[in-house]
Amino acid sequence: MVETMQQTATPVENNHWIRKTHHRLSRFVRTERDRWARRADDIGEADHARLGDAVLRDAIRERASDIHLEPQHNGVRLRFRVDGVLMDTELLTTEQGQHLIRHFKVLSGLDPIATFRPHDARTTVDVDGEPVDIRLASAPCVFGEKLALRLLDQRRVKQRIDELGLGGSARDAIRSWLDSMSGMFLVCGPTGSGKTTTLYALLHELRVAERSVVTIEDPVEYQLEGITQMHVDHRHGVEFATGLRAMLRLDPDYLLLGEIRDEGSAEAALEAATSGCVLLSTLHSRNAVNVITALRNWKLADHELAATLEVVVAQRLVRQLCTECRVQRAPDDVERAWFESLNQPVPDAVWHAPGCDACAHLGYRGRTGLFEVWRLSEDDKQLIAEHGDVRALRERLRSRSDGSLIDDGLQKVADGETSVAEVRAHSGIMV
Ligand SMILES: [Zn+2]
Repeated sequence: MVETMQQTATPVENNHWIRKTHHRLSRFVRTERDRWARRADDIGEADHARLGDAVLRDAIRERASDIHLEPQHNGVRLRFRVDGVLMDTELLTTEQGQHLIRHFKVLSGLDPIATFRPHDARTTVDVDGEPVDIRLASAPCVFGEKLALRLLDQRRVKQRIDELGLGGSARDAIRSWLDSMSGMFLVCGPTGSGKTTTLYALLHELRVAERSVVTIEDPVEYQLEGITQMHVDHRHGVEFATGLRAMLRLDPDYLLLGEIRDEGSAEAALEAATSGCVLLSTLHSRNAVNVITALRNWKLADHELAATLEVVVAQRLVRQLCTECRVQRAPDDVERAWFESLNQPVPDAVWHAPGCDACAHLGYRGRTGLFEVWRLSEDDKQLIAEHGDVRALRERLRSRSDGSLIDDGLQKVADGETSVAEVRAHSGIMV
């Protein structure tokens, strides 16, 4: 398909065909570009800074989590990640792009000269009187140095359990664990599914003032008050496993381990949980029951799992339909087929959002979680201890009222919180 297009179009046209550019997301940048065009040869340091400011102001106004500056053959692409989706916003000239890249590197204390090595830096800048934490990464690419800036939004870590999008029974299961906290609480899902936000929300529920809470993260992105946080530091040999053992000596009540990612960290997590510490962590796994397979593969024994595992949450993030412009219409053929493939009745109407000024004509604004919460019962634990396979566990889970990720997705589609397309995009990897 791509080959055919290249035969009939120049790369520039090709680029234009494939991507939609969302100029509405970059109003401040466009004003600056117009100014640059008017002043032609009279562009200096102050103008570079103004363009840099404009990029940050646009990104923040549009709730972008990341800014990408990507050199290509015909200029530098400026892209924003909004609600998890990367959007083209402008194609800057090579000169504008290079100035911007150097400007952001200087802001972060890096040498502005392009190098052949990747760099990482952190900085805090003032945007319209508000401090904004930025993590910057640069890497040499074919057409020059590429820059990615992550905007660390402190509001993300202030979310409470009730704000994550958990349904009634899922929230009750978590609340019941919070009443008698013990063992391991694991959150699973792919990268960018909001696992860390869920763990931070749990931390807010802990009585931090009376307890000792420590975290080991890679890296620590948000600083939390009243909590001791430690970075994974590969250069100095501090990995999740070694860091966790060091933190255990500090006699914590609650320990947040950024990720269980190998045999070493799985073993260390178990050690913490069996020593009487409450262990919160994340791992990559498609659904809640598959966590058992992952932990078994990392050589954790079934009786140890049965003794320590208390709650497993599987989650995904989906975009929320814009409440200003969402409307109902009859489902189309693709949507019908999807409901039928799930053995679900096809509804007469489904929600969608054509786009309006409030959502920058994207149809979506904000994200919410899809959840599957598995609070392990004594019977579940018994089954794990007796080496029961995951199929048996999954069937048992289905027979209870605990909803699956798909169930939660269907509910949120019915409520008009999200679209069929959003849930469908994730549904292939949910079951
Ligand atoms: Zn809208």
